[in-house]
Amino acid sequence: STKQSVTVIGLGPMGQAMVGAFLDRGYDVTIWNRTASRADALVARGAVLAPNVKEALVSNELVILSFTDYDAMYATLEPASAALTGRTLVNLSSDTPEKARAAARWAAERGAVQLTGGVTVPPSGIGRAESSTFYSGPRQVFDQHRTALEVITGRTDHRGEDPGLAALLYQIGMVMFWTSMLSYWQAIALADANGLTAADVLPHAVETANSLPGFFSFYSERIDAGQHMGDVDRLAMGMASVEHVLHTNADAGVDTVLPAAVADLFRRGMDAGHAADSFSSLVKLMTKTEA
Ligand code: NDP
Repeated sequence: STKQSVTVIGLGPMGQAMVGAFLDRGYDVTIWNRTASRADALVARGAVLAPNVKEALVSNELVILSFTDYDAMYATLEPASAALTGRTLVNLSSDTPEKARAAARWAAERGAVQLTGGVTVPPSGIGRAESSTFYSGPRQVFDQHRTALEVITGRTDHRGEDPGLAALLYQIGMVMFWTSMLSYWQAIALADANGLTAADVLPHAVETANSLPGFFSFYSERIDAGQHMGDVDRLAMGMASVEHVLHTNADAGVDTVLPAAVADLFRRGMDAGHAADSFSSLVKLMTKTEA
């Protein structure tokens, strides 16, 4: 038969959406989850709930993993690790690059191979043509399973052989996502303290966010060239500005942890002698790892 089949282990919102996407494409889908009840709706749609992890692993060569983190993966797979031989583990659980590399070695020691993936969309984006996932690990394994991977998100991109790379790219995206979203919560708190609703400030917030990619492009070229000249902005100007931000938030009585952390970084840049340089010089400060 030419019918495609896959195992999905980990049925949080992401795993459930992935199973749904495979079922929609006519795949035979075997599933397993620590909390079995999370499989109910998927079984009703035609997925097969394996009686245990071992059965879930032996059912298919291709095994999609969607756990909270890698510790959850070990807790689930370690007891059945003899069944890992010959499996391809597509690990879409998020964690650190080091954990992803260690897991790839762990899998290899058990005769399995891991492809690490970073999904860039929430559950609602799973199964959609325009959604994307980046992968790293053995290229040939990616090529071999590309058709199935394109069911999860229509766009797939293999970025390199290092199993930690996809995890790193994911974390690079997430450090931006979490801090950016928190900056938005901060903006809403400040607005609220001044009698404005989230809806009131939405257009202004969107306009501000849309201006950021232009700054990324402009500064990325200069940063890679090691240039931090203060011809268009000076750190001293930025320092004054972030203090206005801090004081505006303090005056409004809203939480100041976030603006104070920003002011702290600017202050450290000033103390390091960068007053006349661009605020991009903070990158140098943040890159330093020596104690
Ligand atoms: P959840 O944390 O909701 O669920 C993940 C699964 O992990 C559940 O099936 C859960 O089992 C299982 N699990 C957690 N701890 C253990 C454990 N100790 N032993 C066994 N199983 C365990 O995650 P999501 O589905 O939301 O996301 C999955 C991954 O995808 C995460 O790494 C997340 O960072 C990433 N991601 C999520 C996005 C999102 O918008 N949700 C977007 C992009 C990536 P149980 O049901 O029994 O609790």
